[in-house]
Amino acid sequence: MTSTGADDVADRRTIADRHVVVVGGGIAGLAAAVALLSAPDPPRVTVLESDTRLGGKIRTSPFAELAAVDEGADAFLARVPWAAGFADRLGLRPELVSPQSGRAAVWWDELHDIPEGLLLGMPTGMLGLARTRLLTWSGKVRAATEPLRRRTSLEPDSLGGYVRSRFGAEVHHRLVDPLVGSIYAADTDRFSLAAVPQIAELATRSRSVLLGARHRPPAPNGPVFYAPSGGVGALVDAADAAVEAAGGTIRTGAPVTAVSVDGAGWCVDDVRADAVILACPAPAAVRLLGSLAADAAARLARIPTADVALLTLSVDAADWPARLAGRSGYLVPKPRQRLVTAASFGSQKWAHWDLPGKVVLRVSLGRDGLPVLHLGDDQLLAGAVDDVGRHLGIELQPIDVRISRFPGAFPQYRPHHAELVAGAQAALPPGIALAGASYHGIGIPACIRSGSDSASRTLEHLSSLSDSS
Ligand SMILES: Cc1cc2nc3c(=O)[nH]c(=O)nc-3n(C[C@H](O)[C@H](O)[C@H](O)COP(=O)(O)OP(=O)(O)OC[C@H]3O[C@@H](n4cnc5c(N)ncnc54)[C@H](O)[C@@H]3O)c2cc1C
Repeated sequence: MTSTGADDVADRRTIADRHVVVVGGGIAGLAAAVALLSAPDPPRVTVLESDTRLGGKIRTSPFAELAAVDEGADAFLARVPWAAGFADRLGLRPELVSPQSGRAAVWWDELHDIPEGLLLGMPTGMLGLARTRLLTWSGKVRAATEPLRRRTSLEPDSLGGYVRSRFGAEVHHRLVDPLVGSIYAADTDRFSLAAVPQIAELATRSRSVLLGARHRPPAPNGPVFYAPSGGVGALVDAADAAVEAAGGTIRTGAPVTAVSVDGAGWCVDDVRADAVILACPAPAAVRLLGSLAADAAARLARIPTADVALLTLSVDAADWPARLAGRSGYLVPKPRQRLVTAASFGSQKWAHWDLPGKVVLRVSLGRDGLPVLHLGDDQLLAGAVDDVGRHLGIELQPIDVRISRFPGAFPQYRPHHAELVAGAQAALPPGIALAGASYHGIGIPACIRSGSDSASRTLEHLSSLSDSS
């Protein structure tokens, strides 16, 4: 751990006299800035963002005749408080909308409704599995023997390994891997079980998932997902406005190249700071921490990422089969994937994406172990058109096309990710905090929570500086 020399400097400044630099203007960095500036005695806050725009992975832009269609995230979980609470705080609550009811499917040579009674693909009862044609009879029988099986070790912390051992390969390949894998662009054989808390909780609670699930409280009523009607980018715009209104400074087009020790504090390129929040993805944090905290950097360097491309297409509503009405989209299990991993029928899912005479689709390509960003735009489009056409049994003729590339889109939480991050955090010098998707959860709510947690730790650090001076 590097000494900042904080103890050597007699410094009577209050927290309000301190300066915090947040590196990264994605949702985690903006949440950190909002939380810092909401403190009773807030420090000075500067957000430095390398891109010319804020939002990072969150991008909302016009598509076809629609003013705002998300390129990446199009919703956040409503059943955890952090993103909905953040939207509330930013005054966006009246604008939150939820997907229209729509049936999601898994494509296994044809579309199959996702059976009832699953938790992220993992069965919590047998009725839904008994009814589906997505599994073979032998797959169903294997799954039904789950309560008879001995406790499965949670080692080696592999989601895929755990699910296969409890329910067999079919439940894993046709349900859990597509459902969880499509959320995180993950290969669930190489993904931490502990990092999927809903499943990890059931796995730790009892020997048998099916028996343990009987004692689960019923799912709360109310919507599962929310999004601002102006797109998820509205969250970024509102956070930007809140930071500026509270006196914070945001600089875009400001890539940070180095963080160095400067007496009792830090120099972020040429900006002096008493504390720094690195709200950039782990690979960027590794570069900035390299000489400052080599141990922390070496640990964070072990967090890989997966790239994805997301194609937004519109097709003529006259060519859209009536049998697909009421569906929200579908997932493609790994053994059946070519390039496409999922497709969402955007204008059937979101009322505000309704376009007269057209259907809007969003098609996801690539995941951990299925690279796609080496392909040119023509190849991505051809791959999407071929795959989706084959899945739906139609000739897809896109009218409008938007291709969004997301290098390093999703950090991959390998087994024992939590221990890796805890070790990296413990190896950080005081006054440097981490926030964002690489660490304690990938979804927007987790990123917002991570941003505000890093702000709390930073405020504690600033207050300890004032106490010791
Ligand atoms: C295609 C896609 C779909 C998704 N769908 C959903 C969804 O539906 N629901 C959901 O909840 N989540 C979804 N996610 C996940 C979620 O959007 C992201 O995990 C989250 O937005 C990441 O936020 P972040 O602030 O941690 O990181 P980022 O958004 O990556 O922000 C980090 C910022 O740091 C900046 N930066 C990096 N290096 C430097 C540097 N040296 N100096 C200055 N700035 C730097 C970057 O430019 C970037 O703006 C999706 C993600 C993708 C890619």
